[in-house]
Amino acid sequence: MHILLANDDGIHAPGIQTLAAALRRVAQVTVIAPDRNRSGASNSLTLGRPLRVTAAGERAYTVDGTPTDCVHLGLSCLLLDDPPDLVVSGINHGANMGDDVLYSGTVAAAMEGRHLGLPAIAVSCAAHQPDHLETAAEMTLRLIAKLDHHPLPPKTVLNLNVADVPLQAIDGFAVTRLGHRHVAEGVIQDRDPRGRPIYWIGPAGAEQDAGAGTDFHALANGRASVTPLTTDLTRRESLPDLCSWLDAPDDGAASAC
Ligand code: MN
Repeated sequence: MHILLANDDGIHAPGIQTLAAALRRVAQVTVIAPDRNRSGASNSLTLGRPLRVTAAGERAYTVDGTPTDCVHLGLSCLLLDDPPDLVVSGINHGANMGDDVLYSGTVAAAMEGRHLGLPAIAVSCAAHQPDHLETAAEMTLRLIAKLDHHPLPPKTVLNLNVADVPLQAIDGFAVTRLGHRHVAEGVIQDRDPRGRPIYWIGPAGAEQDAGAGTDFHALANGRASVTPLTTDLTRRESLPDLCSWLDAPDDGAASAC
């Protein structure tokens, strides 16, 4: 098996280094990762300037672009003669649960892999300064071993979140849906040393919908969370109502759901 490994924290982050070492025990791994931390990049592509790729060791490259750029370049150009079988993104430093997935470059890199036709897994450790990255790496290996026998359906990305605890403290996998957070905390205003105003985007909001069945609940109860994601954001249950409100004909979307 050949795995394309990306992330959004940048190639030097301990998370991707730990995961690369673990994956290399079971597969050939090509690392293509941003040259710096691009957390929060979501699915952005760099379109206004060219991208540069720099070799960074054996089967490893940095890109001066986004996580999505990395996977797009890898699958559409750099690895055409040696195509990967699977895209893995992570291990992110910090959880990607609930609404986080909309902003996450880690999840976006996996989505780009899926968009280009490969099975894909996003992996996050629920600590910004993790002490137990090897736990998330081991749970990733277990998930990949299962995929051997149970291929993912098309258009599905698996979003794995693992607590920052020793492996023996993890009580297996839980299959979950995304929870929700409260809105993000306020923007932090300050002044730079020359007196000009500066603004920091505040941290993610606290958990709001974190009941049984959610990703938040799984981690709070000692399990590794696996949420199947799809990139189709259509809210299907609103289609019939919207047809009715707008007095618009149903061209098939509403009746198909
Ligand atoms: Mn990140």
